[in-house]
Amino acid sequence: MHLHHMLPKHSSYFDYLEDVREDPYYKVLLTVEGHSCQHDILYQVFHFEGDRIARDTLLSQLTRDEAISQARADWIRRNPTHHSEAGKKGGKARAKLVDLNRKIGEKWGKGSWKTSLVE
Ligand SMILES: [Zn+2]
Repeated sequence: MHLHHMLPKHSSYFDYLEDVREDPYYKVLLTVEGHSCQHDILYQVFHFEGDRIARDTLLSQLTRDEAISQARADWIRRNPTHHSEAGKKGGKARAKLVDLNRKIGEKWGKGSWKTSLVE
């Protein structure tokens, strides 16, 4: 038997019910076939890719790796600025590291270990 969240954890619909997603009232045990059917219904109603991926995985039409890959691609499609934002944060982190490296260099002098911190 499979435990199905009637308010799927990673869906964008039912946002206003976020606080009760994990409430046992909204969980139900289903057969694999029934579980697939529930995600098919949700997909037909809300067109959320996560439900199509769950349906196809439960029907053994997707491997686990394919499901993860497709879910990741869908998440990136829905969060288009994620990687550009991450680049900005990464840039800040790198600048901090360069600054830290400079301070260490000033205090302790240059060492062979230094080059491994920042290239
Ligand atoms: Zn489910």
